[in-house]
Amino acid sequence: MMSTEKFTAVKGMNDILPDDAALWEQLEEILRGWLKSYGYRNMRAPILEKTGLFARGIGAFTDVVEKEMFSFVDRLNGDDLTLRTEFTAGVVRAAIESNLTYNGPQRVYSMGPVFRHERPQKGRYRQFHQLSVESLGFAGADMDAELMVMLRDLWDELGLTDVRLELNTLGVAAERAAHREALIAYFEAHAELLDEDARRRLHGNPLRILDTKNPAMQDLVNGAPRLVDYLGAESSARFAHVQRLLSDVGIAFTVNPRLVRGLDYYSHTVFEWIVNSDTLGSQGTICGGGRYDGLTELLGGKATPAVGFAIGLERLLLLTQDYLKQDLAPACDVYVLHQGELAARAAFASAHQLRQIGLSVVLHCDAAQGAGSFKSQMKKADASGAAYAVILGEDEVANRTVTIKPLRDGAEQVTIDAAQAATYLMQKIAGV
Ligand code: ATP
Ligand code: MG
Repeated sequence: MMSTEKFTAVKGMNDILPDDAALWEQLEEILRGWLKSYGYRNMRAPILEKTGLFARGIGAFTDVVEKEMFSFVDRLNGDDLTLRTEFTAGVVRAAIESNLTYNGPQRVYSMGPVFRHERPQKGRYRQFHQLSVESLGFAGADMDAELMVMLRDLWDELGLTDVRLELNTLGVAAERAAHREALIAYFEAHAELLDEDARRRLHGNPLRILDTKNPAMQDLVNGAPRLVDYLGAESSARFAHVQRLLSDVGIAFTVNPRLVRGLDYYSHTVFEWIVNSDTLGSQGTICGGGRYDGLTELLGGKATPAVGFAIGLERLLLLTQDYLKQDLAPACDVYVLHQGELAARAAFASAHQLRQIGLSVVLHCDAAQGAGSFKSQMKKADASGAAYAVILGEDEVANRTVTIKPLRDGAEQVTIDAAQAATYLMQKIAGV
């Protein structure tokens, strides 16, 4: 016999049901408008890439590559594949493959699910969503600063006041190499205080140790040599310039010398936006970004400076949902109710006509059981989120009228000539 055991979702992966999806759509719409206003265009790379792309592009000794990738072997051809863990590696791979920056720099963004095999908790899932913004081909510090200014605008637009900006610089490769030697020496001298992750990373990528979330290692890490002290004049001047541009437009920030970001490929500016409230528990970072000038070359392309950021959308939505709910657009404009056979036909035609003039219309469809009482239909009309109910009963059909009842503002219902209904509703809803 066929099993009838019910299926459940994969652990750490969420269904977004219609009530929540309405908020997601609203947030996405705000994001798209905001991105457009800064000249960003959408691009979409596949959700699967060859595992090697992430391994090289994100870097060994990162949490993502060491333990969070959903990787598998394609059983049809043996390819090693991985569900994207972030967008940047795939976007840069696609940009190289298509010569995207051949005619000049590009501002692009991608939005959608990414996958990391982490321990699920509030604000941390195995499938989650990111908005990833990449400015490809821009070398100047002005772009680093503009991205942070742009984000400040977004938080304002979303009513998010309780966030702070942390900033650091990772300099260039030679500066990081000198700092690295100092870090290794420092951590070797305190080897007994290192946890297992840190011991493994010590000679691979000791910078990663600074990023540890282990509370027992915080004191050790706080006393570690700081990259700032290894910066040459050029990198220092560049970092100072980014800070000056931010100050010029009144953006507050703190320099956090321990900020190295989860991923390996950054250089110069790195930043994070963190919420101050404990709404997200310990998952307080809503946006991380920085410059990744070396990535294109690392992935086999022509050296191309670039800078970008990624926002965790689940976390952003947790913080802004109450604000977004305040002006959630009605799910539809009109719900059409009817009673009796002739009214059902008139309602069917009327719904069609209203849709043709551009309204969104839900027709009460329940023919098998009969339409049900007006009272029960009205409950469904209310629940539909419609702004107006259009009511067709025997009287309306006999008199060629319709009754229109506002569902939102408590205004009185009116019965009007059927021929006027479309114009009347259009005026009320679209203001035309
Ligand atoms: P964290 O330190 O919280 O693990 P991260 O450094 O791994 O973050 P990034 O790779 O910079 O995160 O990803 C950008 C953003 O995506 C994060 O700032 C966060 O808002 C969000 N994010 C990261 N991992 C998850 C996850 N597992 N679930 C939900 N959101 C996440
Ligand atoms: Mg992480």
